[in-house]
Amino acid sequence: MRKKAVHVWLVGAGPGDPELLTLKAARVIAVADVVVHDHLVAPEILAMIPKRAKRIYAGKQRDRHTMKQTEINRLLVRLARQGKRVVRLKGGDPFVFGRGGEEALALARAGIACEVIPGITAATGVAAAVGIPLTHREVAQACVLVTGSRRKGAPDLDWKGLARPGQTIVVYMGLAGLERVSRELIAHGLSPRTPAAIIQQGTMVGQRVVEGTLASLPRLAAEAQLRAPTLIVIGKVVRLRRALARS
Ligand code: SAH
Repeated sequence: MRKKAVHVWLVGAGPGDPELLTLKAARVIAVADVVVHDHLVAPEILAMIPKRAKRIYAGKQRDRHTMKQTEINRLLVRLARQGKRVVRLKGGDPFVFGRGGEEALALARAGIACEVIPGITAATGVAAAVGIPLTHREVAQACVLVTGSRRKGAPDLDWKGLARPGQTIVVYMGLAGLERVSRELIAHGLSPRTPAAIIQQGTMVGQRVVEGTLASLPRLAAEAQLRAPTLIVIGKVVRLRRALARS
């Protein structure tokens, strides 16, 4: 008899709305023996996990790291070696600010194959859901995804490059650092009047959009008392949202 193939599925759950989960993701969740998931995965998606399967919460909220990344990596290796069908379920796409690459590397080092199932990342999913085209002819010919959270010792963002014209900037994990992002972009040449929006819980029931300018958004966001997760979109494309809403 052939030995059971040992592998882990690294699965993207999409931005929140359970209907934005891919068919492929739904298929592997249905056959999982164990699902290791993050806090960003919607309850409706977690409800798709078979009753017989084990659910492990791996956490990762701001200031509330339930499991350290090395512990998660080790856990995945251990479960796979036990011959379990392991699904590692992450919000959005596993390879966009999700540490999916680190987990895939840890598995590869342990000689365990890993199949990545892409998910709709927050930038594309959330922007589309609120009517912001990330690129638009004559308005934005480029779109850059950055993280707004800064780890001690990590290199700072290339503010000059970000402030380039004709480019949409999408900031993940940016609420706490919004004031800094706004200040730096203005200091590096972006107009304070550049349209900007922050979206709370995009594609989910709690979805809210706060729109303003690069200069006003930090204040508006603070006043709105937004709840996580939030995504920031900066650039002239933000203005298209109003025009599209009229159609
Ligand atoms: N791998 C994920 C990102 C993980 S980092 C992806 O591809 O989308 C977590 C950050 O993603 C959050 O801090 C937030 O900035 C963003 N995010 C994820 N889902 C979101 C949602 N539904 N609405 C707004 N922002 C979201």
